[in-house]
Amino acid sequence: MSQKISGVKGMNDLLPPTSAVWQYVEKKARQMFDSFGYLEIRTPVLEDTALFVRSVGEETDIVGKEMYTFQDKAGRSLSLRPEGTAPAVRAYIEHAVHNLEPLTRWFYLGPMFRYERMKTGRYRQFFQAGAEAYGAKEPAQDVELMDMAMQFFRAIELPGVSLEINSLGDDACRPAYLSALNAYFSGHSAQLCDDCRARLQRNPLRILDCKNPQCQQLAKGAPAMLDLLCPACRAHFDEVKAKLDALEIPYRVNPRIVRGLDYYTRTACGAGQQESGQGSDPLRGDRRPRLASGGDETDQRASPRGLRGGLRHPGWKPEEPDEEGGQERGAVCRRARGRRGLEGQGAAQTDAGRRAAIGGARRAELAAEEFGLIRMLRCSRF
Ligand SMILES: [Zn+2]
Ligand SMILES: [Zn+2]
Repeated sequence: MSQKISGVKGMNDLLPPTSAVWQYVEKKARQMFDSFGYLEIRTPVLEDTALFVRSVGEETDIVGKEMYTFQDKAGRSLSLRPEGTAPAVRAYIEHAVHNLEPLTRWFYLGPMFRYERMKTGRYRQFFQAGAEAYGAKEPAQDVELMDMAMQFFRAIELPGVSLEINSLGDDACRPAYLSALNAYFSGHSAQLCDDCRARLQRNPLRILDCKNPQCQQLAKGAPAMLDLLCPACRAHFDEVKAKLDALEIPYRVNPRIVRGLDYYTRTACGAGQQESGQGSDPLRGDRRPRLASGGDETDQRASPRGLRGGLRHPGWKPEEPDEEGGQERGAVCRRARGRRGLEGQGAAQTDAGRRAAIGGARRAELAAEEFGLIRMLRCSRF
């Protein structure tokens, strides 16, 4: 008996000549990351399921419905990575990178896996490139990531990509926003879907993400975080906009860029590709101050420096993270910033001061607390 065996549904073979297109895009991405001083990390495609449950969130569709999760022979629950941030943060904490440097810039490229409905035009193994910066909360860091992403889209000549930004507030101003949301949706609870009625008390933010058309219609009239920002968040957002203007990066403020989980803070961005008509966003970026709650024991683990050393940018000496000069990667970053008018305003300037000011334990906590990130170009097929 012979039966034809096909590839797994939703996962594509890449054959020549198409594979050359992928190589080209990957090359352009690497060049862009390199020019901004971002270094590559490679994490396994498999992780402990708990990592995603804790960091991405049990209630999200990603974790609740779309993960490839299974038990290995020892009965451990493992998952194919649905995104790159959680593994990167895990590695950052596990290898105690905050002890080596005050500011870390990483990128990754590779396959991610989500069990998605095929009709959405998405695939179950897709390719994602992402960049993360840990340790900087300055607006310049947000702008650097957006600048890099938009330059990348230009480099690969992806048409019609336009940047949109929003601010999601922080712990100081979001409670008032949540109350306003709650009051608004409570007044319309009869029109909400069943899921959203349940969300009303637990997390009204998630109603804004609901795909039900009636909920979406209601969400359009909901209060916007931008109207309720505290002075610090307002100043951060204004500076982000000023720096984008200074770099002549076109953008649109879109108060509808929201995240359904409340650990995101301040700048969030996205970029749609109007002309593709596929409804798939090539860019998504956000800032999470508290994601890296890796737990105390992971913070204490030793860092396998030998291995990491082998992966470093040639000439970069992680033993001497310094303030002003001499560090290859720092120099690269400064050059990159200088070219784009961010010299003197970048996050690196204040790192030394911060580093000195905070002790070891607190430093670990702080480094894990503050970082901006961006994920770009999620795609499965050209
Ligand atoms: Zn709903
Ligand atoms: Zn605020």
